[in-house]
Amino acid sequence: MADLLLRSVTLPDGSRADVRIADGRIAALEHAAPAAPAAPVRSGETAAPGEPAEVHDLDGYLLLPAPAEPHAHLDKALTADLVPNPQGDLAGAIEQWMARYPERTVAEITGRARRAALAGVANGATAIRTHVDINDGIGLQAVEALLAVKEELAPLLDLQLVGLVGRPVTGPEGRPNRDLLLAGLDAGVDVVGGCPHLDADPQAATDFCLEVAAERGLPLDLHMDEHLRPAALDLEYLARRVLALGVTGVTGVTASHCCSLGVQDVPTQRRVAEAVAAAGISVVTLPQTNLYLQARDERRSPARGLTAVASLLEAGANVAGGADNLQDPFNTVGRADPLETASLLVMAAHLGAEQAYRAVSGAVRHALGLAPVAVEVGAPAELLAVRAGTVREAIAFAPADRVVTHRGRVVASTTTTTTFPRSWA
Ligand SMILES: [Zn+2]
Repeated sequence: MADLLLRSVTLPDGSRADVRIADGRIAALEHAAPAAPAAPVRSGETAAPGEPAEVHDLDGYLLLPAPAEPHAHLDKALTADLVPNPQGDLAGAIEQWMARYPERTVAEITGRARRAALAGVANGATAIRTHVDINDGIGLQAVEALLAVKEELAPLLDLQLVGLVGRPVTGPEGRPNRDLLLAGLDAGVDVVGGCPHLDADPQAATDFCLEVAAERGLPLDLHMDEHLRPAALDLEYLARRVLALGVTGVTGVTASHCCSLGVQDVPTQRRVAEAVAAAGISVVTLPQTNLYLQARDERRSPARGLTAVASLLEAGANVAGGADNLQDPFNTVGRADPLETASLLVMAAHLGAEQAYRAVSGAVRHALGLAPVAVEVGAPAELLAVRAGTVREAIAFAPADRVVTHRGRVVASTTTTTTFPRSWA
């Protein structure tokens, strides 16, 4: 017997079906329309004999593989009013953020991160990878907070923590940060991370992170080339190192941002994109924060700050889209919504709607090493039902009305009501 019935929902191919879910997987897609009128949404009611435990009427909703968030900073989320960044760029954001470390506490970080993660779940993100600051200014406070959030919210989402080691990483003065990263991994951080472009020796910083990931048998996820300087292209170095060394021990390599690839000439983009694809590196493009932070000094046609999405896709690389910062000094806006990211990818990276949705769903799960999901019998029931008729419409309107399923259970349900006077609707 099914545990959950999603009734009269529109499938991605436009057909309608009743979707039965059991044991965390899609058990049946029944295309016959129900004879009886659809009942209102019911959740958690006592089931009649022979009925699923929970039934949702989803007439007017589109059922999609759930999106996922490949790159968040939950420890920084929702601090835009607490930590202003008058300079507006990346250097200003880092300076202001670190200057306010003394105001951070484990309890305060936990509360904000929890709220931000729940906002993501409500929008459909049943998996989130968040970077977590680790350095000699904040110590392991943010790690402690995010480990608590991960445990508390485990029934609702798969939360991965990336240890974002601070600068410097290299040289004798980098020793405290290197030691703290290892301590964070000992404490339960899942992924090795860092920002080589902020280090005095970006290649040595990249090597250190790669070596730690290999030694620990963990994935690597680096902030890579988060600037628009054409002369600096650490992404190519990372790809060549991975190709030369192999990825023995490293369980997945991801490069986030890669902004400077976007300002290279096209032959250079192709050469690097082919190396990235050959190395199996996933690239995460982050339109919100890159549009916010990059090219602040340029008054005429400022660069969009995104990586070379078209060249990477043409080369066969896995390109995922993420939201990055959520209402903090690095980006004062954002809604924790993969559909917002998809919309920006349509506008700023010129992807089609289906391509943009794949970038915030299947491509993310691939980058995060998670099982693929689909609206098919036997697939894991990681699903987003959203009040829309097509993927394009879902991205365009991004309705709040959503029902989110994780491991076969409804973990968030949002319904909005709009009324107009008289009959102008
Ligand atoms: Zn980031």
